[in-house]
Amino acid sequence: MVMMTGCVSFKPNDGRAEGIDRTSTIVVEADGGETLAFAAEDLRNCLSRVTGREFTLTTSGRATEDATIILRIADATWGLAKDEWLLHPENGNYCIEGGSETGIVGGIYDFLERAANCLWLDRDTTVIPHNPEFTFPKDPIRVRPAVYSREIYTGMDRNGEEDSVLKLRNLENTWNRRFPAMSVDFGSPRANHTLGTYAKDWTDETYLALDSTGKRNNQHYCLSNPKVRHAVAEQLKAYIRSDREQGSYSEFYDISQNDTGNGYECVCPECSAILAREGAYSGVLGEFLNAVSAEIRDEFPDVTITTLAYNFTLKPPRHLVFADNILVRMCGIGCWAPFTPESYYGQELAEWRQHASQTGVWDYAKHFNGLEWPYIYKLDELPSAIRNCCSYNVRHYFFEYENPLERSFAQLQWWLMLRLVINPERDYDELVDKFLAGYYGAKAAPVMREYLDYLLLRQKESGTKKGIDALHTVACYLDDGFYATVNGLLDRAERLAAGNPLHERHVRRERIPVDIAFHTLMPPVPEYKAARTKAFRRYAANTIETFNACPRLAEWQKTTTQEKMTLYSTLEELLPLPVPKQFHGKDIVDIVWKDFTRYGNQMQSISPDDAAVGGRTWGKPRETDAEPFSYPVEFTLTDFNNTEYAKTAVTREQLPPDGNYHWIHIGSMPLPNDNGLLVAKNFCAMLWKGGIGIVPEPWHVWAHLKASGADFGGATEAPNGIFCDRIIFAK
Ligand SMILES: [Zn+2]
Repeated sequence: MVMMTGCVSFKPNDGRAEGIDRTSTIVVEADGGETLAFAAEDLRNCLSRVTGREFTLTTSGRATEDATIILRIADATWGLAKDEWLLHPENGNYCIEGGSETGIVGGIYDFLERAANCLWLDRDTTVIPHNPEFTFPKDPIRVRPAVYSREIYTGMDRNGEEDSVLKLRNLENTWNRRFPAMSVDFGSPRANHTLGTYAKDWTDETYLALDSTGKRNNQHYCLSNPKVRHAVAEQLKAYIRSDREQGSYSEFYDISQNDTGNGYECVCPECSAILAREGAYSGVLGEFLNAVSAEIRDEFPDVTITTLAYNFTLKPPRHLVFADNILVRMCGIGCWAPFTPESYYGQELAEWRQHASQTGVWDYAKHFNGLEWPYIYKLDELPSAIRNCCSYNVRHYFFEYENPLERSFAQLQWWLMLRLVINPERDYDELVDKFLAGYYGAKAAPVMREYLDYLLLRQKESGTKKGIDALHTVACYLDDGFYATVNGLLDRAERLAAGNPLHERHVRRERIPVDIAFHTLMPPVPEYKAARTKAFRRYAANTIETFNACPRLAEWQKTTTQEKMTLYSTLEELLPLPVPKQFHGKDIVDIVWKDFTRYGNQMQSISPDDAAVGGRTWGKPRETDAEPFSYPVEFTLTDFNNTEYAKTAVTREQLPPDGNYHWIHIGSMPLPNDNGLLVAKNFCAMLWKGGIGIVPEPWHVWAHLKASGADFGGATEAPNGIFCDRIIFAK
């Protein structure tokens, strides 16, 4: 935890202290690698720019004069942890001291932020304010990062120069290729879902999980089998030895289940007996891991085994306590809310702490099904959540955080999360305002703050109580008032940011989720045509601009974005589509492939098809190793609550494999006002259409479908699959 301490006994100043405020000398008294050298150069450069005096940097020397900034390893009597630091004046000098090189580097960036307000907000945004009045803080400060291992997974890390440097400066300390000294990484084979890799060479069937039908499945393993325990322990030792031979000394080694849902766990008599005793499958996992950890402890006392409390291991056991060299990472899939003490998952974590001395959290810091609405994680609850986690000894904090370029205030959230996992006592308002001023400019910042607060308020009012139900309610606050308010605020912010291209671009980035939501939710009917087209054009332009400006993205990612926008643009010109004769005179909602999306890990994608609307279709090709497609093809209409409205078996007569699209009646279901989600199961087209109709009355659902390929008896050169380019709801 963080300690701000005034009670430690620093050597008193002896009257020479005031000289430090005129210094321009930095001496590194510690032997360090590239990380310390880089951070020390940042310190020199920043202080030169802040004060207007040119600082000199001497590495691996000794301070010989007064009024020197000294970087060094703290005296052992302080008892600093390796990642801990001290900032303090001493005998006319100013000291940045760490428990190790890592601690000194942390101290440098903490000092630059505290004392000089130097900030690295994004790859394109560095704030180094000129301040000739700069003085050194007089009070000593001692900081240990509240969370030991801090990771934000964006899915677009390339570990290139940009990422490594930005991570270092913000003390995100995982997977940093350029500065491994600052990186607390996982050892082989990887950080999660590792059991399948452990088992890849096993041939003994009895190692595999026995399911309730008496069959063995290779998705999971019999954790009570002593031979499995020993095999895993031996493999773990082999991983550790091999890593160390290559010079890699990780503390964390993961042994956790594959990323499969419930139902694959072993139910043999021995596993079932442990389950019965412990009341939760995590008990079976715990007994297994305790055995493995006992086998490696003597040889590798500095290794911690990490595992997941996830799906069938999410609930803690009744009695069992995991060994102290095991870290349990809580991962409640679909938990889209901070782990505050009041929250469901916050309370689960409290319970887990009774069974594990080391814990971690897998925080879904966004919701991740479907489009990225103007929606934001409950940022204002983060300080409380992270304090709560730290009180339960969370040593590894993982934020799952994909698609940041298309989400509301995503960069603010990234920066804020990193501040708070180091020190959750920091003031939320102060941090937010500091970021907004740096990112959007001082003039636009208050307006952006108004938008942020408005978004949080609308979400709260809409009843996303635990955040678990975020998907159900995201669409319900996207009413006319919302768009009018938000577009008004963003218009104002754009005017206030005018003249600074960077700030202007950042405001435009904030429009992306707003415009895509409007464009997707407004039906393509004539009365919305103009507004839809305007929103679409702005969305496309801002997305291309934002992606092109992001140095983390590869060229192909930028090209793909550009191509996607061109494709959407072609489609937009075609809308509204001509209505087929059978729907004349009815109310219809017409949805095309662009507004379909995946559900879960299915393999659907948009592919070219000359016979489809706008030359593209939504398809589900047969996956390798999957059963061949066959008639009848079953479709199920459900909503997100898994309420089933219809199940239809489509025959060859209805859907012949003739290369043509056919209108097929799937059944009827209501279009919920606040949910807007429809899953046609097995095909899994998921549609997002909130805000249609006041009363949820049933609509007939017609899908424009094509069955294609050899499985169906069609042309052998055509792709095997079911394709759909359009769905019409009619009543
Ligand atoms: Zn078993």
